[in-house]
Amino acid sequence: MVNIRVGNGYDIHRLAEGRKLILGGVEIPHTMGLLGHSDADVLTHAIMDALLGALSLGDIGHYFPPSDAKWAGANSLDLLTQVCQIVKKEGWQVGNIDSVIVAERPKLKPYIPSMIHSLAGRMNIEPNRISIKATTNEKLGPIGREEGICAYAVALLYRD
Ligand code: MG
Repeated sequence: MVNIRVGNGYDIHRLAEGRKLILGGVEIPHTMGLLGHSDADVLTHAIMDALLGALSLGDIGHYFPPSDAKWAGANSLDLLTQVCQIVKKEGWQVGNIDSVIVAERPKLKPYIPSMIHSLAGRMNIEPNRISIKATTNEKLGPIGREEGICAYAVALLYRD
C-alpha cells in the first residue's frame, strides 16, 4: 500500500486595472489585480490543483466550473477549504506544500508570511508545512511584460 502521493498545480491569470490583487488569500496593494471568474487567486488555485492532482481527482475546473454563476467572485480560500475536506474524506493528510509565484511586480516578499498564515489556517496545518517563494520572470514573456501572474505548486499527501 502506498502511503504517500504527490501532485502538482499550475495557474495563470491576466492582470487588469480595477481588480484587487489577491494571492494566498491576502490582498496586496498594487495598481492592477488579477482577472477571473472568482477572486483569481492564482496561488491558491495552483495549490488546490496540486492537492486534487495528488489523489487523481481531476482539477478545480471540475469542482468549481467557471460556467457556474455560484462561483462568481468566490473567495478562493473558501474553495481551498472544500478541497481540503475532500482530501480528508479520502483519508489523506497534507504533508507539505511548496510553491512559487512568478510576478514582475509588486515585490511579494513582505506579504509571504501573511499568505502562509492564511493558507495554513484554512488547511488546518502548521505554517512550516507551507513554502511560498516569489520570483520575477526577468522581464521575459507575458509575465515579464506584466500581462499576468502565474503560480506553481507541489503538494505531498500522506496517510498513516
Ligand atoms: Mg485560476
